[in-house]
Amino acid sequence: MNPNAGFFKRLLTSIITASCFYLLFLAFAASIAGDTPSASILVILSALLFLFNRRFKHHIYCAWCGSHSNKIKESKISNWVWEYRNKDGSQDKRVKSNVKKANFIAYWKCKKCGAITQTTHNASNKPTRRNKIIELKLTEPGTGDRTSNDYFDPDARVVSGENRKNT
Ligand SMILES: [Zn+2]
Repeated sequence: MNPNAGFFKRLLTSIITASCFYLLFLAFAASIAGDTPSASILVILSALLFLFNRRFKHHIYCAWCGSHSNKIKESKISNWVWEYRNKDGSQDKRVKSNVKKANFIAYWKCKKCGAITQTTHNASNKPTRRNKIIELKLTEPGTGDRTSNDYFDPDARVVSGENRKNT
């Protein structure tokens, strides 16, 4: 199971988000015009779309039972490393646009079975949970039998060791 949403899923969630804001705008216009019933209906529609989108957007799954209802319990940022670095980790000063990067790491508790799943997100100069998931693994088992599995992005670049720019 790939926890990263594909292109069309991302496009669809963006369209739904835009629709939410458009409905709110229409509700605002209706309330200005004194049409309170229409404004209320539009606000409710927008809220429903928003909730639907959130469910849809949530692609992180439990590594024990596969459930999509997981709550973030804890998160941290890994050590910051230079994108281009020498063997000892110091900055490769030959590279002008060198930046420091880190991974966002989150721990998710499954609402269904209680298992804890860890996600590691792609190294970035702005590490957040929105970065692509490069690893998803079980850290604490849940109840019942395990029916899901870990995920590892085969293209992921593990940030460690030397990375000198070849110029
Ligand atoms: Zn679970």
